[in-house]
Amino acid sequence: MMVSDILNLKESLIVMAGPCSVESESQVLETARALKRLGVNVLRGGAFKPRTYPESFQGLGEDGLKILAMAREETGMSIVTEAMDLESLRLVEKYADIIQIGSRNSQNFPLLKAAGKTMKPVLLKRGFGNTIDELIGSSRYISMSGNNNIMLVERGIRTFENSTRFTLDVSAVPVLHEKVNYPVIIDPSHPAGNSRYVEPLALAGIAAGADGIIVEVHPDPSRALSDAAQQLNLDQFSRLYSKIKEISRVM
Ligand code: PEP
Ligand code: MN
Repeated sequence: MMVSDILNLKESLIVMAGPCSVESESQVLETARALKRLGVNVLRGGAFKPRTYPESFQGLGEDGLKILAMAREETGMSIVTEAMDLESLRLVEKYADIIQIGSRNSQNFPLLKAAGKTMKPVLLKRGFGNTIDELIGSSRYISMSGNNNIMLVERGIRTFENSTRFTLDVSAVPVLHEKVNYPVIIDPSHPAGNSRYVEPLALAGIAAGADGIIVEVHPDPSRALSDAAQQLNLDQFSRLYSKIKEISRVM
């Protein structure tokens, strides 16, 4: 008997990967080429970054979106990138295939409504202080204009535990599956906060029945301009990807 039979794993898994932030043309193209070679079809990378401190790298803005578009042109990968407000949404809509709404904007209702009106697929992350029910409420602000092309992301919540950056709420996977019809994606990178924990969290999410994962990957994580500690390098991601392929078919 296969592991996939025992765990009732998804027949095919959506895999999205790429750097936390778009930093340069060479960084994105190197990552995209390596990911594409492995068989990953969706490239992530933030051009508008919601940083804790205004002094931190805020993203390359439209120049970053242009770099992502270049990577799509060359590799044929689809692009997912975050819109932070109504202004960046207009640009993200123009360049990206999938619009990401981040954890900090998970209850930004005007932004959710506007993302719904684009009719592009929306990757909605759970607010780290939001219940599952509140996440479902947020998804309704997107679907109210007829856009049901939504993926929900469990990316960790705030708890009293501080050995990891956030606590991955694996229960969100079966609970969301019971309550809504949208694919449930696990982001193991942000709850981990450290590259060492990314693999076990990813595998736990898949074992719980997630429909996909979104993982931060950087050619040289130690030099990353955001989320350096948690990004996998290309070899680390390749090893994780092989494990995932062993237990499920990837899309
Ligand atoms: C990100 O994907 O880089 C990000 C900022 O994630 P989150 O909104 O989940 O913190
Ligand atoms: Mn990040």
